[in-house]
Amino acid sequence: MNDWHNFIGGKWVSGNSSINIENPATGEIFATIAKASLDDLEAAVTAARDCVNSRVLIDCKPAERSALLYRIATEIRGISQQGSELAVLENGKRLSDAQNEFNEAARYFEYYAGMADKIEGVSIPLGSDYIDYTVYEPFGISAQIVPWNFPVSICARSLAPALAAGNAVIVKSPELTPLAMTWIATACQRAGLPEGALSMLCGTGSDVGAALAAHKDINQIVFTGSVLTGRAILHAAAERAVPCVMELGGKSAAVVFADADLEQLMDSINWGIFFNAGQVCSAMSRLLVERSIYDQLVERIASFAKGLKIGPGIHNNDITPVMSAAQQKKVLHYCDEATQQGATLITGGKKPAGHKGYFVEPTVFGNVSPDADIFTQEVFGPVLAITAFDSEEQAWALANATDYGLVAGIFSTNINRCLRGTKLLKAGQVFVNEWYAGGIETPFGGTGLSGFGREKGQEALYSYVQTKNVAIKIR
Ligand code: NAD
Repeated sequence: MNDWHNFIGGKWVSGNSSINIENPATGEIFATIAKASLDDLEAAVTAARDCVNSRVLIDCKPAERSALLYRIATEIRGISQQGSELAVLENGKRLSDAQNEFNEAARYFEYYAGMADKIEGVSIPLGSDYIDYTVYEPFGISAQIVPWNFPVSICARSLAPALAAGNAVIVKSPELTPLAMTWIATACQRAGLPEGALSMLCGTGSDVGAALAAHKDINQIVFTGSVLTGRAILHAAAERAVPCVMELGGKSAAVVFADADLEQLMDSINWGIFFNAGQVCSAMSRLLVERSIYDQLVERIASFAKGLKIGPGIHNNDITPVMSAAQQKKVLHYCDEATQQGATLITGGKKPAGHKGYFVEPTVFGNVSPDADIFTQEVFGPVLAITAFDSEEQAWALANATDYGLVAGIFSTNINRCLRGTKLLKAGQVFVNEWYAGGIETPFGGTGLSGFGREKGQEALYSYVQTKNVAIKIR
């Protein structure tokens, strides 16, 4: 069995106790990781504070910080195969998707390496007696709390811009999937990141996670995870007025009009709800369909879902396991409840026979009422809820009828209608005719219960700096 360690102040540190890591495709424990204690957290905060006080990342030439980030990207590419195989074991995901995650992680470092030497303030004219300018300064210590569904890419998504801006970072890895992301710490170490600029701790949310969020020396919190935890972290942050980025859940809808290209739509449905077993914050978990094509489309989706191959991620199967026994139970509970709440089960809805791990059949529900829980709540599994609409106005209203607002999609060949929808849909990102269009270059984040602040793109860099204005009287 492999034993993994925490990365604290440039060193790998074992613990007094450990956390078992399970393979969701088999239910077997295959590794352990040191469970970070509150003393480990103190050590990480001290190392980060020393790094900030030394100003090693803040005062270096921006071009040097940029070069450091490029070196980290190269190191990530170098360990991507080992890391991806580990991600499949701990996360259950497809090998190809794990490889994409490492590739995306490297891209984040390259992208923000390109920005590290372009963090420019402005000069503000105040007349001949003054010189006034702004500078962007790092916050200091950025605490980053990561969820289990895409730990590698989400870790890189926040870490890369934070380092590009000159912050020191303490990452709290998810207790279910902490292993593959330790390779990001290894890449940073090999690339020569100064000691203390990154610590990575694995502990449970209720102890190390909560203590990190409430720590008096933390200057910023970046949280990606559930609404429930986000709320607890916001309470802790409020005590000390610490700025936060909140990347929370979603219940995103695709609106399909009768004139849509259905071939194109089927590919988006496949990625939108069945990729990573539907455990994606921006999953297409609701499909709103114009009534005239409802029966035809439901039949097509049912036959597509029935044809998907269920099995372990290492063989790149279509439907991989959900994360844990608890997640499987939760998803199946939503399915049972959906029928009781009047939805029609089209296909799936149960554990597939003959599989040892935590699999759930690709599931499609039709006639889902806007009052049903699978219409309003995040299921986080391969479960699609379909509802018919009769008018464009009703379509936008149904799409907006949840408390979330992460992403939304429109499928239509009528450009005017698509443009109207982009304005009326309540979401941080709107996809037109391709779910997950966009990339690391496009700002991402929510409205409503999906959170606030933006990750990805140039805009995200400014989540990691604060503006200082310098006003000088010259005579
Ligand atoms: P979660 O909220 O249970 O846990 C997320 C992280 O928070 C974990 O590291 C956990 O240990 C930690 N944590 C738990 N309790 C804590 C506390 N009291 N204080 C501090 N930290 C604590 O979420 P999850 O189940 O790991 O992830 C799934 C959720 O994440 C879904 O809701 C999904 O939509 C969301 N998510 C959002 C995005 C996004 O970018 N918006 C991306 C991925 C996942």
